[in-house]
Amino acid sequence: LLLAADPARRLSQMRVKLRRSFMGVQMVFDLLNNDDSEPSGTRELPGPVMGEGQATAPAIAFRGIEFSYDKEKPILTGLDLEIAPGEMVALVGPSGAGKSTLFKLLLKFHAPDAGRVELFGNDVAELDNAALRGAISFVGQSNFIFAGSIRDNLSLRNATVSQDQIEAACRAVGLHDDIAALPKGYDTDVGELGTMISGGQAQRLNMARAIIKDAPILLLDEVTSALDAENEQLIKDYIRAQAQHKTVLVIAHRLSTVKEADRIALVQDGRIAAQGRHDELAATNSYYEKIVALQFAA
Ligand code: ADP
Ligand code: MG
Repeated sequence: LLLAADPARRLSQMRVKLRRSFMGVQMVFDLLNNDDSEPSGTRELPGPVMGEGQATAPAIAFRGIEFSYDKEKPILTGLDLEIAPGEMVALVGPSGAGKSTLFKLLLKFHAPDAGRVELFGNDVAELDNAALRGAISFVGQSNFIFAGSIRDNLSLRNATVSQDQIEAACRAVGLHDDIAALPKGYDTDVGELGTMISGGQAQRLNMARAIIKDAPILLLDEVTSALDAENEQLIKDYIRAQAQHKTVLVIAHRLSTVKEADRIALVQDGRIAAQGRHDELAATNSYYEKIVALQFAA
């Protein structure tokens, strides 16, 4: 597939996008990197916080979050959400409701105007950026490809990543056979591939990179959008495999992905307007009922 991409689609499909003004290259690198070198800041991420005689702290908690990019237009107005370790939660809601913003708050690209975001019981405001981002794998709609070989792109030049790890991750996302078929295999320079890498392949590469990073938290922001229906099964398999040993927070608009979740949280009107399992929400929430009806009709 890497070599057989439809030429007519090539140009539009090479995705080396850095979302304008959202992230700088260093931020992207922090986010993707799995290098366990010294943290740059003062505070490392302690492990899960265990209170005396209490249950483990949530993996992620949004507490009383208020946030706006522009004071005239509040986005989040007192949002509360807890995600337990090992849980998979799907965020749904209207476009512009603030779902991606929640990810940006968790990753400290922005700070809330009020309330706090916690990772394993720690206020993220107090955590070192590298430690925080080291604990989180993020795959979004923008797929990052760096100059260098395919191997560099997967390992981010972290020498501790083995060929076995790289291959296992690529097999998991259905990329290995394509890469192995290239004359230089994993050493192929992405520049040589040029525009022959499709949007779907760039997406898979980013997913494989997240597997290799092996962080305890996985954030997925509408990853199905670059993939067609055929590839959607891949995403479901991926989420299912990852969800077994990670805490997963997924923003999804496809119902088939959402249904994989332990819990669905509806982000609407600045807060969590409803949450529950698919069947419960479909029976009790009119917005959710509507998306279910629309997607079954389609
Ligand atoms: P969702 O992911 O639910 O579609 P977002 O979190 O991306 O929503 O955006 C929530 C709102 O904030 C939208 O109205 C969007 O236009 C606005 N917004 C997002 N990012 C920025 C930004 N960097 N600057 C200003 N407004 C933004
Ligand atoms: Mg979004």
